Amino acid sequence: MVGTGKFFVGGNWKANGTKESVKKLVAELNDIKFEDDVDVVVAPPFIYLDMVLNSLTKRIEVSAQNSWVGKGGAFTGEISAEQLADLGVGWVILGHSERRHVLGEKDEFIGKKAAYALSKGVKVMACVGELLEEREAGKTFEVVFQQLKAYADEVPSWTDVVIAYEPVWAIGTGKVATPQQAQEVHEAIRGWLVDNVSPEASAQTRIIYGGSVNAGNCAELAKKEDIDGFLVGGASLKGPDFGTICNSVT
Ligand code: PGA
Repeated sequence: MVGTGKFFVGGNWKANGTKESVKKLVAELNDIKFEDDVDVVVAPPFIYLDMVLNSLTKRIEVSAQNSWVGKGGAFTGEISAEQLADLGVGWVILGHSERRHVLGEKDEFIGKKAAYALSKGVKVMACVGELLEEREAGKTFEVVFQQLKAYADEVPSWTDVVIAYEPVWAIGTGKVATPQQAQEVHEAIRGWLVDNVSPEASAQTRIIYGGSVNAGNCAELAKKEDIDGFLVGGASLKGPDFGTICNSVT
């Protein structure tokens, strides 16, 4: 880690779980001894947020997986940032590739969501990442920088933002980026922040990697200097594995 922030690991449960399995997973999390120098955040589906908030006994924060772009009201099926804040949810994941590529969310819309969530006191895991064809066409930096700019155009400060670099081809595929591939993009993001936001934001903003991270590959990735933590999907559904990933802080 070269950043000044604490190592950060998020668990994105996506649309997985039942009341029973969530209860079991929370019990597993409550049994883990987390290192002091790691921030741990889990993101259950909306319907289990309250249950998870009320049953976690460990120093783990809770995140939503999405929030509405502005003030709540007549937006069927949406959840507003003020509702998340009201429940005590401290974080939200925005710009995840599944929302970009399955649900068609665009950069500008995502940037506005981030600014709105921050304005309500909800911190943001801001996701970016390229498709396989974009990587193969040599456009990784271009795509990632464009996504970053959309956040930067809207958010007044990066203090409460964690950037999650998640190459789309690595998400849920078992095809993890090599430590070198991840480091290269993280370093470029760090540089982009110096040039486009400020040297302070570059030093302080955690840049975490996501895409097929598991208990077996986390240690090698965590050694890279610009990797400040992880956003974990599949492996976050298994408490002990998630614990290993959180404790891979170096
Ligand atoms: P994965 O998902 O760990 O299952 O690849 C990561 C994510 O989507 O955040």
